[in-house]
Amino acid sequence: MLNFDCVVIGSGPAGMTAAIYLRRANLNVAIIEKGAPGGLMNNIINIENYPGFTKVEGPTLSMNMNKQVTDLNVTYKYGNVISVEDFGEYKIVKTETEEIKSKAVIIASGRVPRKLGLENEDKLVGRGIGFCALCDGFFFKDKPVAVVGGGNGAVEAAIYLSTICSEVFLIHRREELTADKATIDKMKNRSNIKVKYNSVVSTIIPEDDKLKGIEITTDDQTSKLEVDGMFIYIGQVPDTSYLDKSGVKLDNKYVLVDKTMRTNIKNIYACGDVIKKEIYQITTAIGEGTIAASSATKDIN
Ligand SMILES: Cc1cc2nc3c(=O)[nH]c(=O)nc-3n(C[C@H](O)[C@H](O)[C@H](O)COP(=O)(O)OP(=O)(O)OC[C@H]3O[C@@H](n4cnc5c(N)ncnc54)[C@H](O)[C@@H]3O)c2cc1C
Repeated sequence: MLNFDCVVIGSGPAGMTAAIYLRRANLNVAIIEKGAPGGLMNNIINIENYPGFTKVEGPTLSMNMNKQVTDLNVTYKYGNVISVEDFGEYKIVKTETEEIKSKAVIIASGRVPRKLGLENEDKLVGRGIGFCALCDGFFFKDKPVAVVGGGNGAVEAAIYLSTICSEVFLIHRREELTADKATIDKMKNRSNIKVKYNSVVSTIIPEDDKLKGIEITTDDQTSKLEVDGMFIYIGQVPDTSYLDKSGVKLDNKYVLVDKTMRTNIKNIYACGDVIKKEIYQITTAIGEGTIAASSATKDIN
């Protein structure tokens, strides 16, 4: 069985930062990632609040961080972690294909997009419904699409899609967008974006196993929109079911940590979007990754 000083679960900004610090402290560290290195950063069209870059594309920042990790010879494992078990002096991290033993574990598995919870939604993911305009927008070139949400992510996605698609309906359940003013201002001269305020998606309409359209409902009426694509940007939720056997304390699926990023279980730490906190940003994730790695290094040594 493979044996490490520390296993980091997730290769987003939190996990990669933790791995950089652990490796520079000369520890034997592995990162386990089930998707592409970079995590949610890969879905961000433009990042304009990461110090050192006035504007940087999410995938570029991901690639830069990942290069730093791989240059330090961190062991990189592709795999979906299905459980973490605590045996006191050591922990066992299981993926679908292997078991890894480690003195310490850093949980940095972030969050996944929240869904609308409507009939036909799950079966149309990848068949018209998506969560990443940057990844999938091109499939809808010259076609009408909808974006659901009203925060920065949704508005940025609508702006991006308006350069590719014929028409973009931005569907928001409130009467005002919650995105910041600078982002809303960027949207103002995009004539093919139509904002539907006070509206919720009430029905998803399939045809031949693809998205054909949606119904949106306001207080007093329901109307149909013919769209080939729908991108859902209504927030994120952690998927921490793999921690069920670990004994790690959760609150509404978020991992509880103290200010040193230690969980209630000795030598298990957490950082980034997976923890319960106030601000969910790259800058906070990397700060917490640093603290988690520093606590783990002290405890292991
Ligand atoms: C649309 C959008 C726009 C955003 N824009 C900005 C912005 O402009 N500026 C900013 O600072 N922040 C932005 N954010 C927030 C930012 O992306 C997150 O705060 C940040 O990525 C969190 O980093 P993380 O490392 O905690 O988690 P993530 O980036 O989510 O990475 C977690 C990683 O863990 C992996 N993983 C999960 N479960 C498992 C498992 N069981 N086994 C193996 N691997 C697993 C995932 O595949 C993922 O790669 C945005 C978020 C979204 C959704």
